Amino acid sequence: MVSAAAIYARISSDPAGTRLGVGRQIADCEALAERLGWPVAEVYVDNDVSAYSGGDRPEYRRMLEDLKHGTRDAVLVWQLDRLHRQPRELEEFFDLVAAVGIAENLATVTGEYDLSTGEGRLMARIVGAVARKESDDKSLRLRRKHAELAAAGKVSGGGSRPFGYADDKVTVVAAEAKVIREMASRVLAGDSLRSVCVDLNGRGVRTSLGNDWTTSGLKRRLMSPQVSGRTERDGEFFEAQWPGIITAEESDRLRHKLGSRTRSGQRPPRRYLLTGGLLLCGRCGAAMVARPRGDKTRRYVCAKGPGLPGCGRMSATADPLEKLIVEIVVHRLGTAELEAALNDARRHSQQAAELEDQVAADQEMLNELADDYANRLIGRPEWLTARETIQRRIDHTRSRLSRLSPTTAIDEYAGHADLLAAAWPDLGLPRRQGIVRVIIDHVVAQSAVPGRGFDRERFEPAFRL
Ligand SMILES: [Zn+2]
Repeated sequence: MVSAAAIYARISSDPAGTRLGVGRQIADCEALAERLGWPVAEVYVDNDVSAYSGGDRPEYRRMLEDLKHGTRDAVLVWQLDRLHRQPRELEEFFDLVAAVGIAENLATVTGEYDLSTGEGRLMARIVGAVARKESDDKSLRLRRKHAELAAAGKVSGGGSRPFGYADDKVTVVAAEAKVIREMASRVLAGDSLRSVCVDLNGRGVRTSLGNDWTTSGLKRRLMSPQVSGRTERDGEFFEAQWPGIITAEESDRLRHKLGSRTRSGQRPPRRYLLTGGLLLCGRCGAAMVARPRGDKTRRYVCAKGPGLPGCGRMSATADPLEKLIVEIVVHRLGTAELEAALNDARRHSQQAAELEDQVAADQEMLNELADDYANRLIGRPEWLTARETIQRRIDHTRSRLSRLSPTTAIDEYAGHADLLAAAWPDLGLPRRQGIVRVIIDHVVAQSAVPGRGFDRERFEPAFRL
């Protein structure tokens, strides 16, 4: 006989867009409690956005305490994976409920296992054990990745010695380091690579191979993260085991300056899906911008500098991120939630048609006014005043329209995710962006955890639909 049931819900990060809202979890659990005749005493909710973080779940802990002390005598969760993230946690939980004699007072909305029976709990354990095996494999992969990254921060075997460092590639050669700092500050101050090369060669300063300096060689040297005591992998920087000759901040400025100079000040071509405020920096909230790395790897960064609002501390390699976003969009297009949102939006379409008529009429009126002015039927002040009034009305109507019918870009694909997936490669960038924008308001990027490689968990989409 249950007298005080606990509902446990967990908010977790799920970039695949399948996240079950916490409200829904709770509502379903409440309905289940009602069916079972279990009075709900308390709802426990944890916000656990990173499933791998192993972070604290204070509410979960509190619930366990309450179960232990008998103030709660049953648990309802939406699905077993809400309750535990690791098999170890599941074991701990089963042990506890068995110890206080409420092993049968467990229920899940999805009913994947009948936890009121020993058999159901056994099934849950077996599945949990398989999951643990997978998780172990995953952590093995992570450890390998860590090893690779450590190697990346270490001295590599081959290659010539980098200018500024001795043959061990770790010891700084003071005289050369002085030259590097001079080159860096001159280039940052606006000297051209060419003029610095001419000067170095004139002074008899040679590269580590004993050659004259070339502009491309100098540029490579100054743009290399190596010279700032860092290595770079997948757009992220890692501290290396050798000391930097210039600071990371100077290195970033050099990379920015020299990286953009090759495009002679032109904006990068629009081949980035998540520009225009779609990707936000999770540290400072600024919109991240497209900025390829020195080796042309497509990348987004939170840009810092004159006229740039960012913090300069966030970057993301574009290819896997854009692939992830497309996956999310395609997935989202196939969901019932989107279908419902679209139906809502279509209900507004009658109103939208009226607003469009209004814009067209106002535009016609503007034309007539211009004719009248051209034919000297009205004076310039009258024309300007009337034009301003009408233009304001048009702007206002348009902004109402933009709020009303944001879905046309996806109308043909809603509920047909497969069609979109098939058509995607042939769509132009504006069309792709239009589709993404209808579904996703923005994506927030969080800092990378060294060793993770590309990590979906870093990116949290906020859906519009
Ligand atoms: Zn930032």
